[in-house]
Amino acid sequence: MSAPSTPLVLGIETSCDETAVGIVRGGQLLANVISSSMELHRRFGGVVPEVAARAHLEAIPSVIDQAVAEAGVSLDDIDAVAVTSGPGLAGALMVGVGAAKGLAQSLSVPLYAVNHLVGHVSVELLTSEGRDLELPTIALLVSGGHTSLLLVRDIVDDVVVLGDTIDDAAGEAFDKVARLLGLPYPGGPEIDRVARAGNPKAYSFPRGLTHPKDQEKHRFNFSFSGLKTAVARWWEQHGDSDDEQLIADVAASFQDAVVDVLVTKALDACNEHGVKRLVLGGGVAANGRLREVAEARCADAGVDLRVPPLSLCTDNGAMIAALGAELISRGRHASDIGVSADPTLAASIAQAGLPPKRHVSDEDLGEWINQRDAEEPSDQAEFVEQVDQAITGMQPTITPPSRRVNKARRTWLPTIASSLGVLGLALSPAFGVGLIPSILATIFGQVGLRQHPAKRGRLIVALVLGYLGIAVSTVIASVLVTPFIRALLVAWGILLP
Ligand code: ADP
Ligand code: MG
Repeated sequence: MSAPSTPLVLGIETSCDETAVGIVRGGQLLANVISSSMELHRRFGGVVPEVAARAHLEAIPSVIDQAVAEAGVSLDDIDAVAVTSGPGLAGALMVGVGAAKGLAQSLSVPLYAVNHLVGHVSVELLTSEGRDLELPTIALLVSGGHTSLLLVRDIVDDVVVLGDTIDDAAGEAFDKVARLLGLPYPGGPEIDRVARAGNPKAYSFPRGLTHPKDQEKHRFNFSFSGLKTAVARWWEQHGDSDDEQLIADVAASFQDAVVDVLVTKALDACNEHGVKRLVLGGGVAANGRLREVAEARCADAGVDLRVPPLSLCTDNGAMIAALGAELISRGRHASDIGVSADPTLAASIAQAGLPPKRHVSDEDLGEWINQRDAEEPSDQAEFVEQVDQAITGMQPTITPPSRRVNKARRTWLPTIASSLGVLGLALSPAFGVGLIPSILATIFGQVGLRQHPAKRGRLIVALVLGYLGIAVSTVIASVLVTPFIRALLVAWGILLP
C-alpha cells in the first residue's frame, strides 16, 4: 500500500447520465474516463432515470478497465475506492455504489462514499492539473440536475449551502427551452452555439428571484421555471421555426437571463461573505457566455475565478477520487460497507456512511460475529444484511422505520412480563385480584419468548410466576366465591340449607 499521503484512489461517479471512473494518486490525476448515455436519452428530450441506471450497469465494467489501463496501474494497486453516494438519481447512484462496494470488498480496500457536489469543488485538489484549492471559496455548481451556490471554508468539514434552485435546474432550463426552439437534446450546447449569432439584448426575459422582495427569503436561491414559461409564451405568439435569426436572438436573450442571474448571485455571495474566489462546476459551466460574463464581472470585482476544463467540469470520476484521496490524507475513517445511495444527500455532508462501522476488516468481522451470537434475531438480520452487501456489493435492504420503532418498543417486554408475574403472584392471596396481572404476565411472556430468545431465562421466570399467580388467584377466588354460590343455590331451593 502507498504512503497514506499519496494513496492510489479509484473514484466512481454515476449520479446522472455519465458513467465515469477516475484514478488519482494524491493530487495527481492519472485517468479520467467518462462514458455518457446521453444518446439514449435524446429521443426523450431529457435524462430517463431507468434508462440511465441500466446504461451504468452495462458500461461500468469497461469504464473501470479503461481507467485502470489509462492510469497504467493494475486493480491490485488501488488503495481505496471512492464513490458518489448522492445527491443524484436513485437508481443511477445505486449502480455506482453497488459496484464500488463490490470492488472495495474484492480488493480488500476501504470504501469512501462521498458527496457529488463537494466532488465538483474537489476538482481544485488536482494539483497535477495546475490547480490549487484555495479556501474559502464560493462554488457555483450548475448542471442538468443541480444549481447550487456553496460557501466552502473547508472541503470536508465546512461546506454551507447558501442556495439552490427551487424548481428547474439551469441545465434543465437550457434543455427545455432548446426543445421549444426546435433544437436537439442536450439543449445547452445547442443554445450556446446558435446564440453566438444572436443579440442577447433582443428580448428582455425575466430574471427569477432577483426582485427586491425576494432578497430576504431567496437571496441565493434560483428559479428558472418562470423564465422558461416566459420564453414559451413569447414563442407561442411570435415564434417562427424557419427564422434562424429569430431563434438565435431568443436563444441569446434566454441565455443572457440565465447567465445574468447565475453570475449576479454568485458575486453577491462572494461579496456578502467576504470571499475573493469563485469556482464554477457542472455541465453548464461549459457555456461560453457564462464563462465570458463571469470572467469580466469577477475581474471587475477582484474575484479570482476558477473554471475547470470541460472533462473536469461535467460529471467525472476524477473529482470523486480526489475527494476520496483528501479524506484519506486527513486520516478519515472509511465509510460503512452498508452505506447506501442517498438521492438527497446534503452538500454539507462531504462523506456518507459514518459512523458506526468504518471498514470490514477480518478482526471487525470476527468481532461482529461474536456480537451477533449474543444479540437478538432482529439485530442478527441486520448483520446478515450487512455481510451480504459486503459480499455481493448489492444495495442494502432498507429497514422500514416501523420495524425499527417496534424493535425499540418491544425491548422492555421481558421486564414487563417478569414484573407482572411478581405482581400477580403477590396479589393473588388478596381476594384473587392477582389474576389479571398474572394472565398479562403469561401473555407478555409468550410474546417475549418469540421476539427475545436471548432473554429466555427471565421470560420463563415470568411465565412460571404468571401461571402460579393464576393458580393461586383461582383457588383463593373460588374459596371466596363458594359460600356466595352456596347461599344462592340454597335461596333458589336447589340445595338444602
Ligand atoms: P448532469 O448529468 O448532472 O445533468 P452534467 O454536468 O452532465 O450534469 O451537465 C449536463 C447539462 O449541462 C445539460 O443540461 C446540458 O444541456 C448542460 N450543458 C452542457 N453544455 C452546455 C453549454 N455549453 N451551455 C449550457 N448548458 C450546457
Ligand atoms: Mg450528465
